Amino acid sequence: MLDNPNAEILAIGTELLLGEITDTNSVFLARQLRDIGVNVFFMTTVGDNFERIVAAISGALDRADIVITTGGLGPTVDDMTRQAVAEATGRPLEFHQTLYDGIAERFRGFGSPMTANNRQQAFLPQRAILIDNPVGTAPAFVVESERGGVISLPGVPREMKFLVSESVAPYLLRKYALGVILARILRTAGIGESSLDDQIGADILGERNPSVGLAAHHGCVDIRITAKAESQAQAAKLLDGMQARLQERVGEHIYGIDDATLEDVVWKQLERRQLKVHAVEAGLPGVISGSWPRGSSRLTASSYESPARAVAALAVREGAMSLRDQAIDIAERIRLSKNVDASIVVLSEPDLDENADVEQGSAVAIATAGGARHRVYGFGTRSNLAREWLSRWGLASMWRMLKEEYGD
Ligand code: ATP
Repeated sequence: MLDNPNAEILAIGTELLLGEITDTNSVFLARQLRDIGVNVFFMTTVGDNFERIVAAISGALDRADIVITTGGLGPTVDDMTRQAVAEATGRPLEFHQTLYDGIAERFRGFGSPMTANNRQQAFLPQRAILIDNPVGTAPAFVVESERGGVISLPGVPREMKFLVSESVAPYLLRKYALGVILARILRTAGIGESSLDDQIGADILGERNPSVGLAAHHGCVDIRITAKAESQAQAAKLLDGMQARLQERVGEHIYGIDDATLEDVVWKQLERRQLKVHAVEAGLPGVISGSWPRGSSRLTASSYESPARAVAALAVREGAMSLRDQAIDIAERIRLSKNVDASIVVLSEPDLDENADVEQGSAVAIATAGGARHRVYGFGTRSNLAREWLSRWGLASMWRMLKEEYGD
């Protein structure tokens, strides 16, 4: 029994090569195979041409233990998957009366006449294992040949998906001693993707099991660890080992694991340390306070229509001309006047979108007893990016500053 089989996916259909339909079947299959621990090294697309389908199946059988095909199982002349599988595996087609009767029965059920070419669907390669298809007429099958296994599924996505979850995945799990793949996400904030990549290092990023990959979102980057092992416990152990190594290198940026959210982590930090925060939101009401837990006495906020209104109301120091200076000045004043442990100020120009002057679109500043930190952006309130980037960076920086000052 193979314990580490690898599979290839072969999508059959000229429509795919003409770009008329998107190959969603292969994407679905790839994910399913990943989830049950089958490696996939190649995915191929081939048109409705007999020689080329045979060559594609043959080539795949030379490399892989299992070949999964989708499409070309219908009754028409351009449906030639079953003949091609017969040819590539050296298993000539055989007629199956029971299959024929079943197809005829289904046609009677539909109330439509069964045409002569439907007879084609009652042929399967010699010694093929039939995969019953209660959701369509095209019978699917498995050929376990000397060269490897071929699993042929219909092209219609609904049918294909049904057969994969009902029959193919259980078949593969039974036949091969498949491993377990586990993944864990370490959530980071306050550091960009390229710096994170750099700090993690090429040695770790080049490892294969567990493998480590980065995914950047607006203002946050996720580190995804994936491990494959024989059992759940072993896979978890591999994840733990890699997590510990990552913690050593970039731990200061990691705020949580899997489902953790930055908001949650910040609010818990405030509760734990009994800290108070005041937010000033100009141009983007709720950008920070919108995610606060209702009724929390740790958090207060004031909101203004625009940075100019906030500046007028909060009497900013003369000479603070730039948005950045204004944000810092307000943050420092508010912290003292409201007697809070941290203040966070977001100033965002309501009339600007993405093309603002680099220094004048939006600014965030945070002040704590230990000092102030700020960041400016070249977009204003009208940009779709504003809310997410400003709140992410603001919360991430506040989390870091409070952690540095008060500990975890
Ligand atoms: P049928 O019994 O319907 O004839 P079949 O196995 O012959 O099934 P095809 O005729 O190749 O399948 O494809 C049927 C339809 O399924 C296509 O017209 C297309 O809409 C869809 N389809 C086929 N292959 C794919 C694919 N790889 N990804 C997404 N959709 C597909």
